[in-house]
Amino acid sequence: MAEPDLTTIDNQVRSCTKCALSSTRTQAVPGEGSPTADLMFIGEGPGFHEDRQGRPFVGPAGQLLDKLLASIGLNRADVYITNMVKCRPPENRDPHPGELAACSGYLNEQIRLISPKVLVTLGRHSFGKFFPNETISKARGRPRKWNGNTLFPIYHPAAALHNPRLKPALEEDFQKLKSMLESNDAPVEEQKGSPEEPNQLSLF
Ligand code: SF4
Repeated sequence: MAEPDLTTIDNQVRSCTKCALSSTRTQAVPGEGSPTADLMFIGEGPGFHEDRQGRPFVGPAGQLLDKLLASIGLNRADVYITNMVKCRPPENRDPHPGELAACSGYLNEQIRLISPKVLVTLGRHSFGKFFPNETISKARGRPRKWNGNTLFPIYHPAAALHNPRLKPALEEDFQKLKSMLESNDAPVEEQKGSPEEPNQLSLF
């Protein structure tokens, strides 16, 4: 069987019925951006606007993400943006564990195919997939290793819109990202937490 590529995964996601979110979505949101991106941003799940348009981070939080990218000389075409679950949970509730587990194979394949220099988790839910026992407020802005990848947790842009006091930390962390990309030699902390939960490693 041929190796899946990003287009194959996109098509699989758009027709996926592996969890109950398929019955309430308008459109699935596989992700978008460069297949050779150095930075891969991972949010929690699509919201209202994303569900309507089938694209990630197109609402107010996405507009802030665009500004933050521009602040380090990048735009959407330079990076890859996706979510933990590819379909919107009703009323923007948190995804259920079974939904996260059902969807994890798509994200794992995207990570494997893109093989970015840095996985950037946006917010506590995305970070919690990789390090479930840590808090984002303590972990943010410090790179660490996960499964052979460099992972960099930062606040979710929506959190900074909700609480503007978080915005300076987000801006600071984007400058750190810039330095990491430029130095090509990210200072990586020792791996902590539970890096290889069973659902993190499930593939197709
Ligand atoms: S959330 Fe993921 S597993 Fe569930 S239906 Fe959508 S693509 Fe499939």
